[in-house]
Amino acid sequence: MDLVSRSGWGARPFRTPAGATPYGRARLGVKVHYLGSAYSDRPHTQCPGYIRSVQAQHMDGNGWSDIAYSFVVCTHGTVYEGRGLERRNAANGNTSLNDAHYAVCALLGASGLTEPPDAQLHGMRDAIEHCRARGPAGGEISRHADGFATACPGPALTSWVRAGAPRPSSGGPSGFHVVQRGETLSGIARHHGTTWQELHTLNRELIGPDPGRITPGQRLLLPGGTHTVRAGETLSGIATAYPGVTWQQIAQANRIPAPYTIHPGQRLTIPAQRSAPV
Ligand SMILES: [Zn+2]
Ligand SMILES: [Zn+2]
Repeated sequence: MDLVSRSGWGARPFRTPAGATPYGRARLGVKVHYLGSAYSDRPHTQCPGYIRSVQAQHMDGNGWSDIAYSFVVCTHGTVYEGRGLERRNAANGNTSLNDAHYAVCALLGASGLTEPPDAQLHGMRDAIEHCRARGPAGGEISRHADGFATACPGPALTSWVRAGAPRPSSGGPSGFHVVQRGETLSGIARHHGTTWQELHTLNRELIGPDPGRITPGQRLLLPGGTHTVRAGETLSGIATAYPGVTWQQIAQANRIPAPYTIHPGQRLTIPAQRSAPV
């Protein structure tokens, strides 16, 4: 975990005595937040300054004793110490909610940047595990909106929390085969249960007219297969990686109803693209 202490991001001292209030009970887990305002991504060098601006807004704008959150996570996955593990947060809605869970906030907007990058989800997970191990805290992972009337943490993090707040899978699309030295199209086809004709049709733009000319390192699309959703992906975006397959077909194959919400970590079946009968 890349953890930046208060001095590391240039935090102002909190006001006493309110900002020094310790937790009054064991924490059940962690509540997930977002900024709820417009947010645009920025170079990591600007993240500490942004955290300072959040603290200034909370202390000077809202009159609170410190930044409200226990920890804040930037889009690059760095975790910034807010009120930390010992001092009660002020973000969950009221005193009893604040006392029951830690508050971890993603630098993510209600507009602008609204989909968490993979690095940020790893950082959120890092912060949650840090709270659990070192707080300590129980295993609950819930949202600001659970038990309090708010849109926080927004649709993307809501899906993520409901999926169990998983770490993003590192694999990327699984419907590819990377050509190794010495392989032939027919050999690859046999290995994946298809025909060289179908592989050639699917990858015509990459391979060209001669099916005998494949080169090591080429990424061949495979017919059908599964795709693990990464943060920020949409059905239509995923469909563009599978020529001949529409996002509607993917939605149908996976029984995803309107408004076609998918969440990071979800495994989608990609329908096989059949070449037209001749
Ligand atoms: Zn919130
Ligand atoms: Zn950053």
